[in-house]
Amino acid sequence: MRLIFLLCLLQAVLLKADERVTYRGYQVMSVTAGSQDQVDTLNQLQDDNPEVVFFGQPAISRDTEMAVPPQLVAQVVRTMKQTQLVVTLVSGDMQADMDTVMAENEQNELLNNRSGRVLRNGRYSPPHNVYYRMDDVDSIMTNLANAYPDLAVRKQLPLMSELGRNIYYLELGTAGSNKPVIFIEGLAHAREWIVTASLIYSIDTMLSNYVSGDQHARDALNKYTWIIIPVVNPDGYIYTWTSNRLWRKNRKFIAGSCTGVDLNRNFNVDFGNTGTSNRCSSDTYHGGSPFSEAETQNIAQVFDGVKSRVVSFLSVHAYSQLLLYPWGYVGSNFDPSPPANRQKLIDLGRLMQTALATNGRSYSLGTAYGVLGYAASGASEDWALQEKPGIFAYCYELRPATYNAGGFDIPASEIVPTGQELLASLYVLAERMDTV
Ligand SMILES: [Zn+2]
Repeated sequence: MRLIFLLCLLQAVLLKADERVTYRGYQVMSVTAGSQDQVDTLNQLQDDNPEVVFFGQPAISRDTEMAVPPQLVAQVVRTMKQTQLVVTLVSGDMQADMDTVMAENEQNELLNNRSGRVLRNGRYSPPHNVYYRMDDVDSIMTNLANAYPDLAVRKQLPLMSELGRNIYYLELGTAGSNKPVIFIEGLAHAREWIVTASLIYSIDTMLSNYVSGDQHARDALNKYTWIIIPVVNPDGYIYTWTSNRLWRKNRKFIAGSCTGVDLNRNFNVDFGNTGTSNRCSSDTYHGGSPFSEAETQNIAQVFDGVKSRVVSFLSVHAYSQLLLYPWGYVGSNFDPSPPANRQKLIDLGRLMQTALATNGRSYSLGTAYGVLGYAASGASEDWALQEKPGIFAYCYELRPATYNAGGFDIPASEIVPTGQELLASLYVLAERMDTV
């Protein structure tokens, strides 16, 4: 009897672990709020219906994209009509969009496995036509460090993730312990897969181009130490592969049915204010206190260890095609106490913006409120600039611009062009930092 009970329990656990969230029949809609009333309606809709997935926060004169489950479509459309919001249907079945992208990814994985290892300038190079699972990302870091012993070291972050996984990062650059540091953290938000893929592309390309004598790569790696964390949030990233493609937060159990803290609301800067939620079920839940999460403490500890040398801090996200400078927490176009180096942030930001347009895509430059119409407290680049005034702190939102252009589920064929844009802007940052 007891054995049967245990077997049943085991089966229940296995079933639960296998459960995959499906977005079958979810309709992706776009609306543009023209008044504060309409913004309030959208916010209310979001509060009342956690099943509706919002891609970004509602703001006046901006497109708000959201995925509505089939059983709520009629009700949501009715609410929009009542508030005179015009609905544009962007996709009739979000799961079908996701399946298309995954099919392409699997196809490319098969092709890559069949063709075996590809070398670039005689050294290991991971193919950039696929998104990689967490274990593969770890292996890529190990392989790159082994392939470029004079230029890359794989290191481990001080704390394990909330679910007990070791987290690794790369330190790039020629020897020298006193070089200025460019600090890059990516994938705090689990579903933003293009972030890790673009960082891997940038790292691989910088290293192989150094060997082939490219001047940008040589300057970048001779002059600076690059600390690059491709996956800040491994638990969340794994979860997006196994269970829910649109998961954003980490995977810490909070209480009841609540799991996860929004890591990019958990930094100790204007903590818990605008653009965050104290409801643990929310996608923007800021956590119990600043740095309550192992994943954010990791960034703070590594940053503190090299603080005197840090000259730039970059937080990489997707999507929307933006380059944002602090303060992201100020919710108005007038900033009463802007960063002391605001003009420099703008001047260098413009040069980086031009580099980001290298493939013809345009990226907007500004503060979060200036560009998006809403602010967010507790974000990493604000915290870094507060900790070390004067550094070049930015937040990237990579490709695409909209859900219609791929959203979080952007096809793997866009990894290389997105990586090229990111890398071009990193070179400009490194080369022009001292000139603005
Ligand atoms: Zn993000």
